[in-house]
Amino acid sequence: MGVSLMLNYREQASWPNAFGQQQSPIRLSSTLGANEGPSLPIMVKRSPLLTTVTNDQTTIKVIGNGTTQFFNRPSAFQQVHFHVPAEHVVDGHQAAMEIHLVHETGIGQKTVVALFAELGANNQPLQRLIDAFDAAAAVPVNLPLTDWLPQTPRGFHYLGSLTTPPLSEGVEWFVITNVAVTLSQDQLDWWQAHFPANNRALQPLNERIVERYGVK
Ligand SMILES: [Zn+2]
Repeated sequence: MGVSLMLNYREQASWPNAFGQQQSPIRLSSTLGANEGPSLPIMVKRSPLLTTVTNDQTTIKVIGNGTTQFFNRPSAFQQVHFHVPAEHVVDGHQAAMEIHLVHETGIGQKTVVALFAELGANNQPLQRLIDAFDAAAAVPVNLPLTDWLPQTPRGFHYLGSLTTPPLSEGVEWFVITNVAVTLSQDQLDWWQAHFPANNRALQPLNERIVERYGVK
């Protein structure tokens, strides 16, 4: 077993970063950029099926499979993980949790779909992951993620980076803002008892263009 070096979010300014101009997360707003259409060009072809719950030291990372088309380009679902509190801020609001669904094409192009979860009702898929979580071992699960993605996703599209080292750029982001995903106070308490805050600080937009889809 390898020794994993836990990311220190309190010293994130010192994370090695060979990039710097197109970083994530960013501050989003419904007055930023142009409205490009009624909904984000995301089409789920095969819903994400979660198969393995792992401990990523700073979050739960769940590996799985599935296929989603972005602008008609197919990309394979790889894993989902969670940030508490949220990383992207929309119209000045920071959600309790941000869920990242990471996809990658055959040539290594990464696309991340970001969803927000607000405090509210108990989240059953999240509870299954919490119940399965073992800090010391990867645990098999069989959990289809059909109810987290809206039929008509609306939100933002922009080019950014991974929000953890190596902070690589060229990552395509789809930030969905019309999701009704919730988590309960008990679930948030469990999370905060197991993981320190793991949200990267907001990064400058610089010269980037942000596209809006169905955000008024
Ligand atoms: Zn993430």
